[in-house]
Amino acid sequence: MQSYNSFKVAQSQVMAAAKLLNLDQATLDLLLWPQREFAFTLPVRMDGGEIKILHGYRIQHNFARGPAKGGIRFHPDETIDTVRALAGWMTWKTAVADLPLGGGKGSIACDPRPMSRRELEIISRAYVRALWQHIGVDQDIAATDVYTNPQTMAWMLDEYETITGRHQPGVVTNKPLSLGGSEGRRNATARGGVIAVREACRTNKVDPAGDYAVQGFGNAGQRAAILHRELLGGGSLVAASDSSGAVYNSRGINPMELVNHKLRTGSVLGFPESEAIEPDSLLEMEVAVLYPAALENAINVKNANRIRARIVCELANGPTSPQADDVLFERGIHVIPDILANAGGVTVSYLEMVQNRSSFYWNDTSINKRLDATMMTAYQAVHSASKERKVPPRMGAMLVAVSRVAEACKLRGWV
Ligand code: NAD
Repeated sequence: MQSYNSFKVAQSQVMAAAKLLNLDQATLDLLLWPQREFAFTLPVRMDGGEIKILHGYRIQHNFARGPAKGGIRFHPDETIDTVRALAGWMTWKTAVADLPLGGGKGSIACDPRPMSRRELEIISRAYVRALWQHIGVDQDIAATDVYTNPQTMAWMLDEYETITGRHQPGVVTNKPLSLGGSEGRRNATARGGVIAVREACRTNKVDPAGDYAVQGFGNAGQRAAILHRELLGGGSLVAASDSSGAVYNSRGINPMELVNHKLRTGSVLGFPESEAIEPDSLLEMEVAVLYPAALENAINVKNANRIRARIVCELANGPTSPQADDVLFERGIHVIPDILANAGGVTVSYLEMVQNRSSFYWNDTSINKRLDATMMTAYQAVHSASKERKVPPRMGAMLVAVSRVAEACKLRGWV
């Protein structure tokens, strides 16, 4: 059996959209590949004195609509192909949200979990030293991703500003507030997803006060669990899971109390007044909304026929396999695709860059208002495209994104 390659999946999505859009071959060939790629080695002296050679990547997929934008992961399984796929998805995500940005992604292939704070600081700074001439507010803006956080961004910002000798906080986003971070960034991904759910409930006549379940009770999942009730004015969280297991209560779980329980114990398991259930059964519950917020391929060809949610909001990147996607569409389940559902994060990152450029900072009410407007417009564009072409929302989102990027490439005279 051929192994899963996310870059091949990403390229097949572009090819399918290009076919429906009747794109010419040159434009397709341009969009299938990143415009610039960097692969480099980073020699790092570890605490024990030994030198490790780590592999770093930065992929800048497309610059037609603006500078590349995307996170940096520290993860042992990262390959150049996963980073290529993620960089492309960032191009489509920024285009769906109509932000004046392209797409990029970076990584250092390493397991950061056993590393000391000093080692993490050294690899963060080394990454910037390898790349500083090719990143920046007008070229490529990095952000947090898997196993990187605002502290990583603070070290990267400091290294970049030390080398260039200029104050340029917009070179990275999701910074600590005291270094030019934005209000509202912490909740942005989940808030954007819940806003999309609000619109999906309207268009699909689903009761927003129905039950919901969260697979992957981490950063994005926890915030969505809390914001769902706040923004939709109701709804009952009946199940939540993390890598240790899943809990269920048909009468509802208080999301904030579950967050506190997880903070205390490190797991959702053992939450009072809940029963432990099989994690896979959470995905198959009869709920109004299911939030997959963990990893890729959670909804796949094996369980797609048993999914009973009315709406699936993909907070995670790639949680539904392409075959499962078709099954859900045929069964009338409304999937809010990842490039739309989790676009709230990059939207507020963009607002962070705008604030950094003007050195003028907004409060969270202004940020949330702008995020709401961006998500609503993006949702409507995707909804109209999928209705008009009678295609699943994921293809609707790709049609919107690919046509916007293709138009920018053509106007520049590239193709
Ligand atoms: P996180 O590490 O904080 O949370 C992930 C959670 O998933 C953890 O609680 C983990 O225990 C749980 N998990 C892992 N395997 C599981 C399994 N098999 N079943 C159930 N739970 C499992 O990460 P995050 O930042 O919340 O990101 C989650 C997803 O959302 C990722 O796909 C990420 O790429 C995507 N995403 C996040 C953001 C963001 O701003 N945080 C933005 C865009 C996309």
